Amino acid sequence: MPARILIAGGGIGGLAAAVALARGGQSVELLEQAAAFAEVGAGIQLGPNVTRRLKTLGVLDAARQLAARPTSVAVRDAQDGALLARMPLADSIERKYGGPYLCMHRADLHSVLLQAARDLAPRVELNTAAPITQVAARGDTVCLGSGSIRAWEGDGLVGADGLWSLVRARVVEEPTPPRATGHTAWRALARIEALPAALRSTEVQVWLGERLHAVAYPVRGGAWLNLVILAEVPPGGAGARTQDPADWDQQADMAALLTAIGNRCHGVSALIEAMPHWRAWQLNDRPPLTGPHEMVRGRVALLGDSAHPMLPYLAQGAGMAIEDAVALAERVANCDAESLPGAFSRYAAARWQRNARVQARARRNGEVFHASGAKRVARDAALRVLGAHLLDNPWLYEG
Ligand SMILES: Cc1cc2nc3c(=O)[nH]c(=O)nc-3n(C[C@H](O)[C@H](O)[C@H](O)COP(=O)(O)OP(=O)(O)OC[C@H]3O[C@@H](n4cnc5c(N)ncnc54)[C@H](O)[C@@H]3O)c2cc1C
Repeated sequence: MPARILIAGGGIGGLAAAVALARGGQSVELLEQAAAFAEVGAGIQLGPNVTRRLKTLGVLDAARQLAARPTSVAVRDAQDGALLARMPLADSIERKYGGPYLCMHRADLHSVLLQAARDLAPRVELNTAAPITQVAARGDTVCLGSGSIRAWEGDGLVGADGLWSLVRARVVEEPTPPRATGHTAWRALARIEALPAALRSTEVQVWLGERLHAVAYPVRGGAWLNLVILAEVPPGGAGARTQDPADWDQQADMAALLTAIGNRCHGVSALIEAMPHWRAWQLNDRPPLTGPHEMVRGRVALLGDSAHPMLPYLAQGAGMAIEDAVALAERVANCDAESLPGAFSRYAAARWQRNARVQARARRNGEVFHASGAKRVARDAALRVLGAHLLDNPWLYEG
């Protein structure tokens, strides 16, 4: 008899896990705290390592229809806009790595996964307005509670409840809060047709400046442009606000952005000024995982940001959550309740090193992207000489 698996969290990671596990024959019940399933209004890049997994989940065709497939990635100096390096994406990366490089609106990716999960009913049951407040074990059963009125039981639990995970405390010995990095992301979206022609682009564009960088790319079949500015802002300084949308104040976010970038971003200023609305996010991460014990304990497994939150400087946080989901389902396929803990520990053994490597590389990218002085001169020279070779990530895209 298949195992009954509970999933806490219905973000990209939780929904990917629901689809992957149910396609593998398991019975899944997912619990999302929000009143309705939703994602933030911003873009997301998906490398070929991720889109290959979307194919495994049966959702790549639907994702492609809503995505943009950028022609190339171009890296420029944030101050004067000079081109430092370019790498083709589109056909060449798809041929090389067996999956497309896609840029999506997060709500589009989320809705594709949600539809796939709904199509798997009754093997997948989806609950909203279900904030998990208690996690307990009774023999071989995991019990979840939401306040004092709702409870669920399963043979195993997947904590896909994000950065501030409650489930994490059931897995790691001494849970600590995530690290406030002192970096802030400002995100904006605009209709391409509302932008001056000179600002329209089919590329992933990256601008490198001192203690900041900017990334722009098309989403929604190229109809919208996503721009994110990522800057080192001291704790308590501009952008240090909570992640609660009720606290968002767009005018304050815009003012904080302009203060944070100062005069370090002339090459992007026209695009920044053209964007209609800005939202600020404080960025948090955790040190790279040190072993499988930080991903699984007994009948409880962590997946995505609950296990390995990272700076978005390799654009792979959601990618690793989707990789986790597919890897978990592969280990759990054909398991019954009794064999679930063994499958969970094989999942953690298979995943922790890759996740740790991606976390470490994301931090390192931050140092390289935001370099100043001699390091910046050396970086720019290397980019001019090695170009596409430096921008490619075979270790990541082949994995
Ligand atoms: C500026 C920025 C840019 C990024 N760009 C990229 C990119 O280009 N590519 C990429 O791959 N990644 C990117 N990321 C990272 C990516 O957004 C995250 O890694 C990813 O969203 C994590 O997904 P998740 O499902 O693990 O967690 P989340 O998206 O945080 O989802 C967790 C879910 O669990 C729910 N939840 C929480 N607690 C409970 C509870 N107690 N009970 C029930 N439900 C609960 C939440 O409501 C939420 O729906 C970026 C991140 C940022 C900040």
